[in-house]
Amino acid sequence: MAYRDRVLMGPGPCNVSPEVSAALAAPLLGHLDPEFLHVLDETCSRLRQVFQTTNPLTLPLSATGSGGMEAAFVNLVRPGDPVVVGINGLFGERMAEVASRHGADVVRVEAPWGEPLDPQRLLDAHRAPKVIAVVHAETSTGVRNDVEPLGRSKGDAVLLVDCVTSLGGVEVDVDGWGVDVAYSGSQKCLGVPPGLAPITVSPEGRRRLVQRPTSWYFDLDLIARYVEGDGGGRTYHHTAPVAMVMALHAGLGLLLDEGLAQVWQRHLDAGRALQQGLEELGLELVGPPSHRLPQLTVVRVPDGVDSAAVRRQLLERYGIEIGAGAGPWASTVWRIGCMGPSAASRHVALLLAALGEVLGR
Ligand code: PLP
Repeated sequence: MAYRDRVLMGPGPCNVSPEVSAALAAPLLGHLDPEFLHVLDETCSRLRQVFQTTNPLTLPLSATGSGGMEAAFVNLVRPGDPVVVGINGLFGERMAEVASRHGADVVRVEAPWGEPLDPQRLLDAHRAPKVIAVVHAETSTGVRNDVEPLGRSKGDAVLLVDCVTSLGGVEVDVDGWGVDVAYSGSQKCLGVPPGLAPITVSPEGRRRLVQRPTSWYFDLDLIARYVEGDGGGRTYHHTAPVAMVMALHAGLGLLLDEGLAQVWQRHLDAGRALQQGLEELGLELVGPPSHRLPQLTVVRVPDGVDSAAVRRQLLERYGIEIGAGAGPWASTVWRIGCMGPSAASRHVALLLAALGEVLGR
């Protein structure tokens, strides 16, 4: 089957809209061309709307989601700083690893994979942490962690939230929840190819950034001087990936035209229909219903079924991509995304019919 027919229902990337493809293919502008800088400014303003924040320091980092994570920690943490990290999946584990590589004194607060974290345990884990870090939507398990209670009671801690899989799929309310630093990735519910990491920093978070962090490339202060200007104009920092910023600009434009509430509802409808259909096929879903993500469903591979063979047949026969499990769950679950333009009832119907046929159910 020709690659252009792929239905992307893995944990990301998702399918992109024709408008985003057109933006990628548009004649290239220089990275300091006034027209491009206008698009960049608009992209930052659109990101503020999607993150639901007024934070001036809001921009697309030239990096994938992991780069957003690295940038957050390298700008927040000095060796020896106590950092509480919530861990109930692969990406919480990655946060702990990145924080410890930057010298943080990591306090691990764990929940079993497939269960949400208890916010109170995170709040009680250390008397005065510099940072409390949590993954909002854990992509390895399809489970949402509650952020709002952390913002309410964080005290002097900087609240850092990984929104890679949540932004544009479920509500993210940076200002309303008291989040200080949040980063995401372009390839999930924003419906854009991988390569950019939107990030936002509150005024208080900005005040707490370390001076001259050990990474030059991810120094948020230097990047802000290029993206925001510093009163005397913009200072070159690096060559922005112009085509990707154009694509993100287009993807965010579509999302905002549809309306945030409508976009969340579309993800919810697609995710619910998918989860109901999987249960009707006799499959077992991971996570409590109250904290199951609509945009990323994790479902157990039935006993005796070869996980990789099923994925291969879906891809070869129907052009549908779903994800394997991550880490210790590599061959015991499938991860099925309904993200961005892939959160559509026709995708769900196609996958359920194809999976039913492949499984003989
Ligand atoms: N955080 C979460 C929750 C993710 O799901 C991912 C990727 O799937 C990342 C971080 C890392 O993002 P990337 O693969 O774009 O580097």
